[in-house]
Amino acid sequence: MSYLFESFSGWKAYCEAKNISLFDSVIEYEVVQKGNTEERIWDGLLKAYTVMREAVETGLKEEMNSRSGMINNGAKKVFHHPLTVLSPEFQKLISRALAAKEVNSCMGRVVAAPTAGASGILPGTLYTLQEIHGLSDRKILEGLLVGAGIALIIEEKASLAGAVGGCQAETGSAAAMAAGAIVHCLGGDVDQVFNAVAITIQCMLGLVCDPVAGLVEVPCVVRNASAAAIANSSAQIALAYVSAVIPVDECVEAMGEIGASMESRYKETAMGGLAATLTGQEIAKRVLIQDIEILPDETLPE
Ligand code: SF4
Repeated sequence: MSYLFESFSGWKAYCEAKNISLFDSVIEYEVVQKGNTEERIWDGLLKAYTVMREAVETGLKEEMNSRSGMINNGAKKVFHHPLTVLSPEFQKLISRALAAKEVNSCMGRVVAAPTAGASGILPGTLYTLQEIHGLSDRKILEGLLVGAGIALIIEEKASLAGAVGGCQAETGSAAAMAAGAIVHCLGGDVDQVFNAVAITIQCMLGLVCDPVAGLVEVPCVVRNASAAAIANSSAQIALAYVSAVIPVDECVEAMGEIGASMESRYKETAMGGLAATLTGQEIAKRVLIQDIEILPDETLPE
């Protein structure tokens, strides 16, 4: 029998009863529920992680300018800036999360983990974690499986979509996946993994989805960097056995409740928050004019 990803407490109880790890239960779920084979799962994970790494490298190497002009090689500027705020590792983490997300905003190839809008958080985090701790690819892939289990439960109890739950559901969920993956990769136990998820969600609750001009660029790109930072701070706190106090399942329920009560202008409609500012509206107008200018004549209204 395979476990259904409905709650963190159920996930823990299932793994304890069967004496298997968190990532093993995700493999079992994929095999039993989705008819996948273990070999294909590991292959698919390696492919996904390879695309994540390539997105980081592409974003730090190639020109990253979006058509709207809002994205303009920000990751490279951060990576090469001579003044580091905390440490060179922190600077790399931030620039790598920005890099992978900029690739998405510039229409490059990324892994939607869990969504394209949040596609810089896991790559930036895992790339940097692997480099700092000399982890094997296999360990990182285990972390991705733990992240997948976390996402399945968040999807079940709340949402992973900005259009349903605001940005907390997208960048918040990705940060929760990344925090859990970090703790797993560094040898944390199940309680520490789930505590990292709970702390991350507590830090991301209430974040609205307000993309300027409806483009997944501003504030999406910088939110990937801040979410990566929160994932790392939450993992650091959880590894030290500092309790989130509110259990992880209740934190996810709070995320669902906040998402459900959020007004629709904060759910990807580009009608509230930063999208509704004076500058946001001016950019939206300019982008619309650009779009009309590149339309072939026959598609324009008479
Ligand atoms: S602001 Fe909206 S579109 Fe942008 S990353 Fe967040 S949820 Fe996605």
